[in-house]
Amino acid sequence: MLLLASLEVAGLFLTGHAGYKNFEPLLIFIYFLTRNKNFSVFCFVGSGLYNLCVMKQLLRKLVQAETTAERGERAGAEVISTDLGQSGIDSRIDSWDGNRANIIAQIKSAGRRGALLFACHLDTVGPGEASWKYAPFAGVEREGKIYGRGSADMKGGIAAIITAVRQIVESGVKLEGDIILFAAAGEETDSCGAKRFVHDCGGMPELAGVIIPEPTDFEVITAHRGMLWLKVTTKGKATHGSTPELGVNAIASMRAVLDELESYKIRCEPHKPLGECSMSVNTIAGGKAINVVPDKCDIGIDIRTLPAQNHQDITTDFQEIFARLKQKNPEFDADVSIVREVKALETDSSCDFVKEFCSAVGINETKAVGFTTDGPHLAVLGAPVVIFGPGKPEVCHKPDEYIDICDLEKAVEYYKNIILKFLS
Ligand SMILES: [Zn+2]
Repeated sequence: MLLLASLEVAGLFLTGHAGYKNFEPLLIFIYFLTRNKNFSVFCFVGSGLYNLCVMKQLLRKLVQAETTAERGERAGAEVISTDLGQSGIDSRIDSWDGNRANIIAQIKSAGRRGALLFACHLDTVGPGEASWKYAPFAGVEREGKIYGRGSADMKGGIAAIITAVRQIVESGVKLEGDIILFAAAGEETDSCGAKRFVHDCGGMPELAGVIIPEPTDFEVITAHRGMLWLKVTTKGKATHGSTPELGVNAIASMRAVLDELESYKIRCEPHKPLGECSMSVNTIAGGKAINVVPDKCDIGIDIRTLPAQNHQDITTDFQEIFARLKQKNPEFDADVSIVREVKALETDSSCDFVKEFCSAVGINETKAVGFTTDGPHLAVLGAPVVIFGPGKPEVCHKPDEYIDICDLEKAVEYYKNIILKFLS
C-alpha cells in the first residue's frame, strides 16, 4: 500500500512496513490529523522499507526496561520478544530467580551453511551518582541522539540487529544458514547469562561465527584483555581498642599485604596489540568501630590479563606473598579468592571468517579494545568471535550515555550485509 499526502511545506517523513502491524492505523491517523496543517506527511508502507520510528521506539522501550543488576533483565527480554513477534519470529525467554532472563531466537534456514550467532547483553550498569541531563531510563531523543543508560552499551546494538533480522525475515529471502539471536543476563556483573546459554545450548547448529554488537564505533574488534577480580581478606583477633596488644589487627596485616603488592609485578610479556597486564587495588573495607581492634579487612583487586596468562599463576603468587608474611609474623593470616574472571579474547585476525566479515563491512583493519565482553565465554563454542557495533565506547558507563540515531541506521545496513554475506 502506498499512501502519499502532500500538503504545502514538507515537514514530516514517515516510512512504515507492511509487517509492522500496528503502524498503518497510526499513519492514517497522522494523515487526518495533519491534512489541514501547514506541513506535509509522506507515508510509505510497503515491503523493502523499514521504519526508523519502530527501531527508535524499540530502543526507547529497552532503555525504559531499566535492566540493572537490581531489577534484572526480564522486562528487557519481554520487550524483545514482543518486537520479534511483530515479524512472526518466535523467541524463548529463559528466566530464573524471578527477574533474571536470557532471550534466544533462532531463524531457521536450509542449514547448508554454518549459523551466525549474534550475542548481546540485556543488562546495564546503574545510572551512578552524578546527575544526568535527561532521566537515565526515559530514552529521551534530542538532536539526532537517544539518551539513556544502555543506549550505547548495548541496547542500541540490540535494536539494530533486531531491526536487521526483522527486515531479512520480512523480505522473504531464503537463508542457507540459521541466524541465532541471543541476549544475555549479567554481562556487567558475572556473565551468568552467557555461561548459562553455553551450558544449555546443546542442539545448536554448527556456527560459522559469533558477532557481538557491543559499541565499538564500527571498528572490527578481535581481541581484548581478560579480567581477574580478586578479594584478599586478612584475619585478625578482635579485642578492646584500649588493649590492642591482646588482639591481632587485621588492618595492620592488610598494610603488610599492600606494601608487598607495591613491589609485586605480575610476570607476563607485553602483548601486541593488547599491551601490558595491569593491576589496581580498588576497594578496601575493615573495622567496625573505633574502639574495637578489627578482626577482618578486605581489599578488591582488578587485574586485566593477557591471552597467554594463566589466572591460577597469579593466585599462586598471592599465596606465596602470604607465606612470606607469615614467616615474618606468625600471627599473620590471609586468603585470596576469585570474585570474577573472564579470560582474554584473541580471535585469529587472519582466519577466513574475520576476512569475510571485514569484506562484508568494508573495513580492512582489526583492533583490540580495553573493555571486556562475554566473548571469551562464547569462544568455547569453537567459532571465531568478532565484536562490532554502533555507539562510542567512551560514552558507556557514564552520565548522559547516548547513541547517534544515524549510527543505528548504519548498523542495520552493516548487519544485513553480514547476514547476507554469510548466510545467503
Ligand atoms: Zn556492553
